[in-house]
Amino acid sequence: MNVSENIEKIKDHLPEQVRLIAVTKTKPEEMVMEAYHSGHKIFGENKVQELVRKYESLPKDIEWHMIGHLQTNKVKYIVPFVSLIHSVDSFKLLKTINKEAGNAGKVVDCLFQVKIAKEESKFGMTVGQIKQILDSAEYSSFQNIRLTGLMGMATFTEDKEVIRSEFNFLHTCFEDIKNAYFNGVNYFREISMGMSDDYEIAVEAGSTMVRVGSKIFGTRNYSG
Ligand SMILES: *Cc1c(COP(=O)(O)O)cnc(C)c1O
Repeated sequence: MNVSENIEKIKDHLPEQVRLIAVTKTKPEEMVMEAYHSGHKIFGENKVQELVRKYESLPKDIEWHMIGHLQTNKVKYIVPFVSLIHSVDSFKLLKTINKEAGNAGKVVDCLFQVKIAKEESKFGMTVGQIKQILDSAEYSSFQNIRLTGLMGMATFTEDKEVIRSEFNFLHTCFEDIKNAYFNGVNYFREISMGMSDDYEIAVEAGSTMVRVGSKIFGTRNYSG
């Protein structure tokens, strides 16, 4: 596994406006540092404990993204340093992020996670639920969060057309919400979609952030 070569290969095929989030979950700090030394500084983790551990022990100019399901009682541990939370899947979670970000004296960037897969196991909201949040008086009072886009995970399948239609659907959701609530708001511009096996399809469907783990760092012992 040559981490920096793998990153180079992926970046070579990404359009300029698409950012690569290197997903380091379950991988040791040494591997993160291999990527770091090759010049890559944006990493994603899906578990709070591991994210905090890596943040504390690694260089402070790393941009850390939380990409996994987040429990409200753990928000406070990551808010002080996290750059983007991809996985906002409930109003309760958004409220908690706003509150903890207020306590930390900062504004935290967030993406709404949309459920685009047919699988029961995947987290995320419907566009209707997101609109309910955006329409609420409570949302408009929030001072410490900034919504910068949407995130989604496709069905785990070999069928590329299923994946493509789910990513296209997420793009449609993005346009819908952008037009209705963030028209002319330049920071609402992210569509986080695409992983090791499907990021090329995601890019074709308009992804602005791909979250790639195993294609950079090798397969994991557990899916995490
Ligand atoms: C693990 C994970 C990824 C990366 O998965 P790979 O298939 O290893 O690229 C992307 N997004 C989320 C939310 C993940 O948990």
